[in-house]
Amino acid sequence: MSWLETLARPSIINLRAYKSARSIASDAGVFLDANEAPDSGIAGQELNRYPLPQPAALLQRFAGLYGVDQAQILMGRGSDEAIDVLTRAFCEPGQDSILLTPPTYGMYEVSADIQNAPVVRVSLLKDGAEWKLDVPGMTRAMAERNIKLVYVCSPNNPTGTVFSNDDIRALCRAASRSIVVIDEAYIEFDPSSSCVPLLNEFRHLVILRTLSKAWGLAGLRCGVMLGDPALIALLQKVRAPYPLPRPVVGLALQATSDLTAMQDRVARVTSERRRLENALRELPVVKTIYSSKANFLLIEFQNEAAVMSATNRAGIIVRSRDSEPCLKNCVRITVGGETENDLLLKVLSEVQPV
Ligand code: PMP
Repeated sequence: MSWLETLARPSIINLRAYKSARSIASDAGVFLDANEAPDSGIAGQELNRYPLPQPAALLQRFAGLYGVDQAQILMGRGSDEAIDVLTRAFCEPGQDSILLTPPTYGMYEVSADIQNAPVVRVSLLKDGAEWKLDVPGMTRAMAERNIKLVYVCSPNNPTGTVFSNDDIRALCRAASRSIVVIDEAYIEFDPSSSCVPLLNEFRHLVILRTLSKAWGLAGLRCGVMLGDPALIALLQKVRAPYPLPRPVVGLALQATSDLTAMQDRVARVTSERRRLENALRELPVVKTIYSSKANFLLIEFQNEAAVMSATNRAGIIVRSRDSEPCLKNCVRITVGGETENDLLLKVLSEVQPV
């Protein structure tokens, strides 16, 4: 049995993948194989035709952007779809668990719940305003429980923390019977901390990237999973037959051709994050601002309820994290544009300290 066969669900290893029309034939003069219409209500974009499942030009673009081989990439509808595909491929319902490090992104648990996969939690360690992975605790959990997927979000949503590469390396070494998934949705805000170089060291490491954050394309629904070619080939059987609509492919190619525009956006958002942080520090209602390497801030207020009602009244939607473990009175605030941030600061400056 290969390493992958010991990890993936047997039914997925044995699965005969659906053969979509465009994965069988994509280059011909006349297509009469997919029950498509001969023309489209929208002219000029070939929308009467199914798209290619994984278009070569976009694969090539992502391979260049992330410095990996095309065989290491699975493209789809954002990181959320990647999480879903991983869960379905690796977690036998009722048997195989996932490991989470709360407080963290919510979809890992939702996908596990949909699959009826048990969830094991090893909370982050908090030291003042800093958060760390509990690597010994996670190692113990992996030894004691049947954990197939270990999720680490770095920078972590909602804390904004980037975890040390040494800790992630230690975790990968300890995870001999699991896939380690590093969710790098926000890594463009701290690119030198990316774990992509570790893909050469660990075949059971998977990295999630997305165009939703730094690239400013959340509405496009496009992201990738990077991993070992054998793992990616297996997951090609599980993904949707046509995960990338034709317009998405064109727009993703157009947007990713301009690296400087993305870097400029990151610089602008980072500078606004610093300004917001400095101004918030002056407000008496603010207790702690956690150090963030992303496009949001996690803030502990004196009274979360007062902040939530003031922002709601002003028509500003922020995300309360008050009900999450370790996050009493915490609110996660996305760094907006300058005018939006000014409005937020004005509203928060009017919240009375208790
Ligand atoms: N991972 C993290 C950490 C996120 O915060 C989000 C979205 N908020 C996602 C993944 C989902 O991203 P996508 O739009 O690529 O599905």
